Amino acid sequence: VTAEIVSVGTELLLGQIEDTNATAAARVLAEAGVTCQRRQTVGDNLDRLTEAVRQALSRADLVLTIGGLGPTEDDLTREAIAAALEVPLETDDELLARLQESVQARGVPWVHSLARQALRPTGSRVLPNAIGTAVGFICEKGRKAVTALPGPPREFSAMLDEHVRPYLATRGGGVRIVSRVLRVAGMGESLMEEKVRPLLGSGNPTLAPLAKSGEAHLRITARGEDEITIRHLLDDMEGEVRARLGDVVYGVDEETLEACVLSLLRDRKVTLATAESCTGGLLGGRLTSVPGSSDVYLGGYVTYSNEMKLRALGVAERLLREHGAASEECARAMAEGARRATGADWAVSVTGIAGPTGGTPEKPVGLVFVGLADEAASVATQHRFGGDREAVRHRSTQAALALLRKAVLSGGCGSS
Ligand code: AMP
Ligand code: MG
Repeated sequence: VTAEIVSVGTELLLGQIEDTNATAAARVLAEAGVTCQRRQTVGDNLDRLTEAVRQALSRADLVLTIGGLGPTEDDLTREAIAAALEVPLETDDELLARLQESVQARGVPWVHSLARQALRPTGSRVLPNAIGTAVGFICEKGRKAVTALPGPPREFSAMLDEHVRPYLATRGGGVRIVSRVLRVAGMGESLMEEKVRPLLGSGNPTLAPLAKSGEAHLRITARGEDEITIRHLLDDMEGEVRARLGDVVYGVDEETLEACVLSLLRDRKVTLATAESCTGGLLGGRLTSVPGSSDVYLGGYVTYSNEMKLRALGVAERLLREHGAASEECARAMAEGARRATGADWAVSVTGIAGPTGGTPEKPVGLVFVGLADEAASVATQHRFGGDREAVRHRSTQAALALLRKAVLSGGCGSS
């Protein structure tokens, strides 16, 4: 079974809103094992909308339209679907009565245009809307079908789950598609791809690399008749990937790097502090965004100026003079200083040049040092990040978390 999505609304074409409904619909289609082959976005124009639905119907078994079901003149999806399917529109009397009732109950005057919301293609089935006034419908003709849902996201999602999902289950032929994402940090995307290349040709499940800021993901997608088959396919591929990549795979699906690092530290009953220069608190922000982080994360320093590095962390003036703040030496001294000042078991630091200004030939924009200290030793790593200021800052926090994770896994700073 194949499907296409048609999103309706000039506001989408103007870039005023994001098409979150289409994203939700695409996900539901995938989960139901329906192959979504194309998405279109059209404005509130009857000819173009009719054409879009007609074309979609000529290619796919199923067309999902989003939006344009309101009472106003620019809500034209009903008309377009009727025209594309070549079935007449008729007033649903029961629906009309209910609309009139609800308008009366709200104490607002009845305007004639409201009756448009009671129009449906002949032979269609109503999809009730538990939240709003615009109902949806499913209209079947031969082997083809069109579903129409209203645009307000809360109503759309509820109706997608309540009506479209079960409908797809009756048409999808029992095949389901499920994805699992493996998250990788501390290894570049190219190297990761290189290592899993033999697996990329697999048909079921498929494996797809996705580059993210400061990390890389591998999406495994399996297709099968039942949950157990699908889970086995996913588990086997995950095992293959992990065997090739080792412990740079830090998490699955929605697990974040900061949450994974904190739980590693928690398991070992140790504490953490931070010292940040160019990230200005971003790293501490990420750590404290994880609920329950307080049993591991003690706190940190934002030492932006050299003066602050010296005063708050005890970084030696001579060190700063000889090596500068963006240096391996300073990163280590910052981490050591944060450990000393907080009494934490581990401290991680970030210092570098986020840009766009402040770079020199010796120390260009994007040059970042991450430092790490535990009771036995301190280390630092050097990075050259591309991208704008925000990208450099985010990647710096990724690198800091990845280095910390690696050191904790290998048993200490000295052994990493
Ligand atoms: P409509 O059903 O076209 O009258 O849309 C009603 C409202 O739903 C719009 O004003 C948007 O705020 C929202 N909306 C419509 N289409 C979408 C969409 N594809 N994704 C997210 N929101 C939408
Ligand atoms: Mg609209």
